[in-house]
Amino acid sequence: MARKHSKHAFHDDEPQDEDAPAPAVPCWLCGRPTGKTIVWHHPVPKSRGGRDVVPMHAICQQTLIVNFTNSELQRHGMDVEALLANPTVRKFVDWVANKDPDFTATIAKKRR
Ligand SMILES: [Zn+2]
Repeated sequence: MARKHSKHAFHDDEPQDEDAPAPAVPCWLCGRPTGKTIVWHHPVPKSRGGRDVVPMHAICQQTLIVNFTNSELQRHGMDVEALLANPTVRKFVDWVANKDPDFTATIAKKRR
């Protein structure tokens, strides 16, 4: 957190320090800042022994869940580029790029 060290009298009443939001964490999948809700996603599913978590939007996590099986997620692991190579995921990321960080929608589950 970079703060100005100068302690001059002027500008002292600016409330920006207390109101400044915590620095936004970028989403692992789409790279946008996360909104009010941060989902801590296991790139390798917990049921497959995954322990690492990454910050994500709920909608981005949902996209992974509906487009990949646990086995695929386990295989790709932390390799987000491999996930983005999926055309459906790529399309989603391009589409969601201009949405509000707190934007959510129901991602239709593909019938397999
Ligand atoms: Zn995201």
